Amino acid sequence: MFRRLTKARVFILLFIAILTTLADTAALGQQQKTAFKFKTVIIDAGHGGKDPGAHGAYSLEKNVALAIAKKVHALLMQDLPDINVVMTRSTDRFVELKRRSEIANENQGNLFVSIHCNSSPQGTGAENRGVMLLVYGFHRKEEQMEALRENASIYIEKDYQKNYDGYSENNPTAFIVLNAFMEKYRKQSILFGTLLNKEFVEDDGRRSRGVKEQGVLVLAHSAMPAVLIETGYINNTKEEKYLNSEEGQQAIAISIVKAIKAYRKQINAQ
Ligand SMILES: [Zn+2]
Repeated sequence: MFRRLTKARVFILLFIAILTTLADTAALGQQQKTAFKFKTVIIDAGHGGKDPGAHGAYSLEKNVALAIAKKVHALLMQDLPDINVVMTRSTDRFVELKRRSEIANENQGNLFVSIHCNSSPQGTGAENRGVMLLVYGFHRKEEQMEALRENASIYIEKDYQKNYDGYSENNPTAFIVLNAFMEKYRKQSILFGTLLNKEFVEDDGRRSRGVKEQGVLVLAHSAMPAVLIETGYINNTKEEKYLNSEEGQQAIAISIVKAIKAYRKQINAQ
């Protein structure tokens, strides 16, 4: 009797252990499902190759953008090893805007982060400085020129008329047509932009022009939340120095990674 009871108890204990393990596995599966809602981030270093972007007294936007993008990539691999990080370019080469969006879409990115430098029309030494975050949205007339400048590499691409449905400087309605594409990701893009802006201002003490909605084409074709980061004015003497320094690039990269972490946390909690 005692022996049989013990046996029965062993079976019951085993049964409970199996049930507990199954329940734990199910819970873990659920947790992983939640944790993996945000799994791929696209890092886009602006310009490249024959398209240098803006320039300062001694440096080019394409090189600064790539250096920062590489630092973001390295930090993400180290801090968030469970997510995929896809670079639209990792060398000094020209990548069409359309191809950048394709890379992002093919990899089913959850967030598109495009890294650029700003430049003021007043030229080197101008007082314009600080970061600015662009989210694809309803552009306003006074912002059109900045958007056109960021989209300037379209004109370098031979077959832009085919690729961009006749997109041209004289056809601003092209922007409006493209707006419909990104509207559903607008809120999430603004969320990421706001989180990043907070990091730049509070952690790095940067001046900021804030999060703005503009008709930036590289963001328009990416079917995911997307933010273009103007990391600073390359033609402002002080900012050019900061943008080219190891310390400055590292600070910018750390802020981007912190914002990605905060954003992922919010998205996964939804
Ligand atoms: Zn740019």
